[in-house]
Amino acid sequence: MRRSKTLLVPILILLVFEAVAVTLWLTKGNLFYLFNFTYIGVSVALGVFLMLRKYKHARRIVQLLVGLYMLVYLGLICGENMQLEGFWYYLFTGVFEAATIHYAVAKIFGPLLFGRGWCGYACWTAMLLDFLPFKTPAGPRKKLGWIRYITFAASLVFVAALFLAKVGNIERIMFWAFIAGNVLYYGTGIILAFVFKDNRAFCKYICPVTVFLKPMSYFSLIRVKCDRDKCVNCGKCKRVCPMDVDMTDNSRRRKNGTECILCMECVKNCPKDAL
Ligand code: SF4
Ligand code: SF4
Ligand code: SF4
Repeated sequence: MRRSKTLLVPILILLVFEAVAVTLWLTKGNLFYLFNFTYIGVSVALGVFLMLRKYKHARRIVQLLVGLYMLVYLGLICGENMQLEGFWYYLFTGVFEAATIHYAVAKIFGPLLFGRGWCGYACWTAMLLDFLPFKTPAGPRKKLGWIRYITFAASLVFVAALFLAKVGNIERIMFWAFIAGNVLYYGTGIILAFVFKDNRAFCKYICPVTVFLKPMSYFSLIRVKCDRDKCVNCGKCKRVCPMDVDMTDNSRRRKNGTECILCMECVKNCPKDAL
C-alpha cells in the first residue's frame, strides 16, 4: 500500500503537469510549452517521489532543478523576464506568454490547489536563501509585512512608467531589469537573513509576489493538517517551521496560515505522526 502511494502521487502530479503541457502546446501551437511543463512536472514528481521515500534532500533537489532552469535557461539564456516586472510587461502588451503563463499557473491559480508550493519547491530566490544557516527563525516574526505592498507597487509603477513614457525597446530593458532585480533580491535576501537570523526573512517581509500568493493560498486544497487525537502538544512542529505557521490549528484562519510553503519540516519532525 505504502509502496503504491510512493508511485501513485508522483504519477498524478506528472499527469497534472502533462495536462497543462499538452493544453498549452495545442492551444498556443508552440512545442516549447510541452517541453517546459514536462520538464517541471518530471522534476516535481521526482522530488515528491524522493520525499515519500524519506530522502532528506528531496525538496532541495526540486528547488535546484526548477529554480536553475527558470533562472539560467529561461531568464538568462532565453532572455525572458520571469519576475513580477515580466508579468506586468506581458500583461500590458496583452500577450498570454512566458511570465503571464508562469504567474497564472504557479502564483495565481495554482495556489488554489498547491498553496505556496512554488515558494517551497521552485523559487530561485529561496533556492539560494535556503542554503544559508538560519533554517528556523531565531526570533518572533517582525511586523514588517507591509513592505511587500511597497515593492509590489514599485514593480507595477516601474513597468507602467516605461509604457506611459513610450520608451523604446522595452523588451531589452526587461532583460536587464531581470538581472538587476535578481541581484537586488539576492543581496537584500542575504542581508536580511543575517540581520534577522532567518533564511526566509525576505519572503516574510519584502517579496512582492506574496501579494498574489497569500490570498490565493488561503483557499489551498493541499494543506498540512493536524490529527488532534494523536497530538501531544509538544510544540516541536512549530519550533522547526521556517514560516511561523500554527499547523496544529486546522482552521483556514490559523496563525500565518497563508505563509506555509509546504516544506514538510513539521511533518517530518512530529514524533507522533500527527501531521
Ligand atoms: S516569498 Fe517570494 S522569494 Fe520567497 S519563495 Fe516565495 S516567491 Fe520566492
Ligand atoms: S510535533 Fe506533533 S505532537 Fe508535537 S505539537 Fe506538533 S503535531 Fe502535536
Ligand atoms: S514546517 Fe509545516 S507549516 Fe511550516 S511551512 Fe513547512 S509545511 Fe508549512
